[in-house]
Amino acid sequence: MLPSWVDEEMPFSGPCAICGGDDGRHRVTDAIVERVRARESVESVAQDFRLSEGFVYRLIVEDHRSGGRGR
Ligand SMILES: [Zn+2]
Repeated sequence: MLPSWVDEEMPFSGPCAICGGDDGRHRVTDAIVERVRARESVESVAQDFRLSEGFVYRLIVEDHRSGGRGR
């Protein structure tokens, strides 16, 4: 379940076409977290996804708090 602040930069766009989950955005947030974990800079990942660096950073913190892969 994504926190509500995610809506600010990444509006809800419906359920996931792959796993059938309620919120398809999890695929994008998972990809973002994975890239930063793979030592890519927050700055370049944010640019690729057209998001603010602060937003990407919050995703990383959120993932860490939930124990990572906790979805
Ligand atoms: Zn899915």
